Amino acid sequence: MKLRTILGIVFASPVTLVTLLFYILPFTALGWYKYAGWYGVDRLANPSSPLALAPVWTVQLERSPGWLVKYWAKWGGHCVGTAVVVKNEPGSSKKADITLVHELHHVDQMHRFGFFQPVLYVLSSLCAKVAGEDAYIMNVFEMSARRVAGQIVDPQSFASGYGMCKVHAQQQASNNKVP
Ligand SMILES: [Zn+2]
Repeated sequence: MKLRTILGIVFASPVTLVTLLFYILPFTALGWYKYAGWYGVDRLANPSSPLALAPVWTVQLERSPGWLVKYWAKWGGHCVGTAVVVKNEPGSSKKADITLVHELHHVDQMHRFGFFQPVLYVLSSLCAKVAGEDAYIMNVFEMSARRVAGQIVDPQSFASGYGMCKVHAQQQASNNKVP
């Protein structure tokens, strides 16, 4: 393990301790989550990205209560402290790996900002909300994680850009019809 990773884990440990003790470990004891191992750059095909090494848990949907299954229907994974929970087993599909890269980038953010990260995350969401934007989609920490994972960084402008291209193509087609 690199020194930078060790320092990052220590810096974020006040947050990770709380999430492990009050969330991940109890859910694991109940059989709802299963420990999958440590994941990082060495296990993924993106050695140039600054991803952190982190312990990963997978959700055991068939053993989870209804409210938890309902929660996970909407999400692919999340990062709590420097621990990651994902719905689909890492390596089971391309989508599962994209989600894991996204969440590992959130771990990297935790390593950089430590216990300030959750505060900065909420502030970024508030800034987006005040500006009339979506608090989750336009959060800079989410945009950064989507960029690293190769996902669409700004779905709103992507959709409007795509819409404009379609209108332009339709105009071109109708202009070509006119003699
Ligand atoms: Zn995210």
